[in-house]
Amino acid sequence: NRMVAPEYTPEDEETENPLRPKHLEDYIGQEKVKENLSVFIEAARQRKETLDHVLLYGPPGLGKTTLAGIIANELGVNLRITSGPAIERPGDLAALLTNLNAGDVLFIDEVHRLPRTVEEILYPAMEDYSIDIITGKGQMAASYHLPLPKFTLVGATTRAGQLSAPLRDRFGVVLRLEMYSPEELAQIVSRSAKILGIEIEADGALEIASRSRGTPRIANRMLKRVRDFAQVTSNGVIDYNSAKLGLDRMEVDELGLDANDRRMLSTMIQYYNGGPVGLDTLAAAIGEEAVTLEDVYEPYLMQIGFLARTPRGRVATKAAYLHLGLQPPAEGSPEQQRLF
Ligand code: ATP
Repeated sequence: NRMVAPEYTPEDEETENPLRPKHLEDYIGQEKVKENLSVFIEAARQRKETLDHVLLYGPPGLGKTTLAGIIANELGVNLRITSGPAIERPGDLAALLTNLNAGDVLFIDEVHRLPRTVEEILYPAMEDYSIDIITGKGQMAASYHLPLPKFTLVGATTRAGQLSAPLRDRFGVVLRLEMYSPEELAQIVSRSAKILGIEIEADGALEIASRSRGTPRIANRMLKRVRDFAQVTSNGVIDYNSAKLGLDRMEVDELGLDANDRRMLSTMIQYYNGGPVGLDTLAAAIGEEAVTLEDVYEPYLMQIGFLARTPRGRVATKAAYLHLGLQPPAEGSPEQQRLF
């Protein structure tokens, strides 16, 4: 398990719920999203109407589930949580929907992974708050029209592009979550430390924040691990030194790259002259699946400008050379022109 992987792991379970803010005002960062949401929530509350369906998209671990909880809480309704792959048959969705109370929020994580047959009955459910269920086959087939309570669907996806157009069009509110700045993450770390009863100094929080790849889930995970180092080296207080020591020992560098990221970049540079190198070739060279490279390694490396995707393959940038302490090709050399 990579410390810096943004996906949920069972290790996160113990703290994920207690650390989730319950109100919009406690949700740190994502100012644009918060501003828009607060208007929509307030308007729905004033008109005593159900909030329009909301699509949240962005990389894992940025707080989509947390936001769904906040929406339900602010509206004073229940939250039901499920995910695309968990709803296997239309009947599963029908059971979920018919059990909702009026106004409830249904959160479907990984909404792009809903089976097609399920997605099709979701359309009328979202639009007209009703579903048609067909039971039996041939002459025994019967169709039932089921009215549903009005509800708000909050869908989450890491890739808005993978959502089918008819589904995407049925979300009235579409919000994109951005990676967090180190300052915002430091606030999140300090808040989490307070809840968990961990003593932390401002520069300790900032050190964890700047290595957590813009992602609250990673920041919270690092906080828990660094606590152990702090206990041994500085009486349990996380300061700059204990944070640095802990994270250095876990081989997470100042920019949040771990040994895997560095291995990928150095493979590109040393064996493929910095690229362009095809995704599959690179994946084979470092012994990973191509999808893992695309979904786990690349987003952050691209975000910090260490990696570029070109039509001919992946290219390591000058910043990546410099970060690894390697000499980038000289200005004006053919190598340099080929790469940057
Ligand atoms: P995934 O889609 O991978 O499940 P997610 O985007 O739903 O991820 P969450 O589970 O909501 O992410 O958030 C992960 C953790 O980060 C939670 O423990 C939550 O408390 C914390 N967190 C996320 N966003 C914020 C925020 N803006 N302020 C404070 N804590 C946050």
